[in-house]
Amino acid sequence: DLALDQATKWLELFGDEIEKNKAYLSDLDTPIGDADHGFNMARGMEAVETSLAQKAPADLAGLFKQTAMALITKVGGASGPLYGTAFLEMSKQAAQTSELNSLLAAALAGIKKRGGAAAGDKTMVDVWEAVLPELAQGTLTDAKIDEAVEATKPLIAKKGRASYLGERSKGHIDPGAMSSGYLFKALLKAVA
Ligand code: ADP
Ligand code: MG
Ligand code: MG
Repeated sequence: DLALDQATKWLELFGDEIEKNKAYLSDLDTPIGDADHGFNMARGMEAVETSLAQKAPADLAGLFKQTAMALITKVGGASGPLYGTAFLEMSKQAAQTSELNSLLAAALAGIKKRGGAAAGDKTMVDVWEAVLPELAQGTLTDAKIDEAVEATKPLIAKKGRASYLGERSKGHIDPGAMSSGYLFKALLKAVA
């Protein structure tokens, strides 16, 4: 089960990684988007940090709710509502269980419902779909996360801004896949 202190650590580590790599994430978003993914996510994770500093959440549900609200309100761009939905669904699920795999399954279902993307559409969903079963089996590693992120490179984007490019979206890593890679690496560290 995911404990409140582990989840808090998870978000801290994710925020650090986003901050450190915001220019790189926006660079990934340059050829197939509008060059803002890293800046969007950094603004969002700063808002999460501020929210958590202002009010310490009492439990997992509260932590994820505050996270979701900060991301939804502060991130302009597709990624805000998508990550926001992920954390909002985890918040709802946390009322029933703190089992990590159930929380993440609820998050992924929320992202897919909200954005309508499936595996292979060259979005963050590709990483979530690849990572969740490995995590559930206890076989997830940083290398497998990297592989899942890299696997978005040859794909043709079917959702989001990159889809406007059609064939020309080939040969570029999806920025949201990369940020989700950071999310799962942070999780591995937080629960280790
Ligand atoms: P915007 O495209 O509005 O500028 P960002 O650059 O912050 O937003 O985020 C782009 C990322 O969001 C993409 O790389 C992709 O992973 C993800 N994304 C976009 N649309 C969808 C969708 N419909 N479903 C899932 N993920 C999506
Ligand atoms: Mg963008
Ligand atoms: Mg944008």
